[in-house]
Amino acid sequence: MERCGVKDNFGREITYLRISVTERCNLRCRYCMPEEGICKMDHAQMLSQEELVMAVRAAAACGINKVRITGGEPLVKKNILSICESVAAVPGIREVCLTTNAMLLPGMAQQLRNAGVGRINISLDTLDPEKYQWITRRGTLREALAGLDAALRAGFSKVKINSVLIGGFNDDEIPALASLSKDRPVDVRFIELMPMSENLAFGKNAYISYKRVLEVLPELEEMPADGGVAKLYRLPDAQGNIGLISPISAHFCGTCNRLRLTSDGRIKPCLHSAEEYPVKGLSEEEMKKQFEVAILGKPEWHGELSREIRSRAARSMNQIGG
Ligand code: SAM
Ligand code: SF4
Repeated sequence: MERCGVKDNFGREITYLRISVTERCNLRCRYCMPEEGICKMDHAQMLSQEELVMAVRAAAACGINKVRITGGEPLVKKNILSICESVAAVPGIREVCLTTNAMLLPGMAQQLRNAGVGRINISLDTLDPEKYQWITRRGTLREALAGLDAALRAGFSKVKINSVLIGGFNDDEIPALASLSKDRPVDVRFIELMPMSENLAFGKNAYISYKRVLEVLPELEEMPADGGVAKLYRLPDAQGNIGLISPISAHFCGTCNRLRLTSDGRIKPCLHSAEEYPVKGLSEEEMKKQFEVAILGKPEWHGELSREIRSRAARSMNQIGG
């Protein structure tokens, strides 16, 4: 299939596909998922591995060259290694990355690396064992740190830590979390909490701006941008960068190059819009047409979002893939 290099209606070149391979998760982070979990999706509703790989081929024909595997928790998916391997083998896909809570990384990091995953992002919102258990409702900090160490040993080209900034929960830990970039060769990224239906109960003080990190760490030195969505900084003598990601206080929609694919086979052109384009059951050529339509349907920006005005995504974060 020929590459068609579709640009969207606002001149943005769409090159990055984030795939949620499952909605299921072994944790229940309070800002992401309800305690009781989610209704298990009927197997027949989900994209099969063959369909998923076909969708990636169709997306690659439209100019996608980078794929992130996410979820839910991608490592609870039984055939995850085979999925990563097949996605990495799709012509035109230059990079396969994965986002995980790291619980299962100790036994899987090296296999993921061998399956073609180049970069890995690990979610870690606190370094306090009790707070970790509270926010995830079932994980342990010990497991998460063991996962981080396993990722560092496995030789990924980049390991990043994602911390969601939550006022009153981890704003007092900004220096400790940032210090991970001194002790280890990792980037630490602080992400503003996005107002999804799951975190309705979070009080107004939970939503803090990325600027809080700059106030707390005046020693941060600005670094050149790397084409990603994070504003980059570095602590003196650190091994990795500090990234600040501000979907709320300073949205980056003008340079957004992403599409998302849900585990039931729906292309979402914007994380916060209800618009979806199904590909399940289609031929590869039909899937390619859907990708083109989705790219042209990508909205200019995600619209107003605040703690009062919530995401219009109509799905929770574990369903979309964060
Ligand atoms: N389970 C994997 C993990 O936690 O890394 C992958 C899926 S998770 C939905 C992807 C990312 O979305 C995580 O870093 C998580 O912290 C983030 N996330 C979930 N809900 C969020 C919210 N309301 N605002 C900001 N980030 C959120
Ligand atoms: Fe699971 Fe990731 Fe959501 Fe936490 S943020 S509940 S680990 S999908």
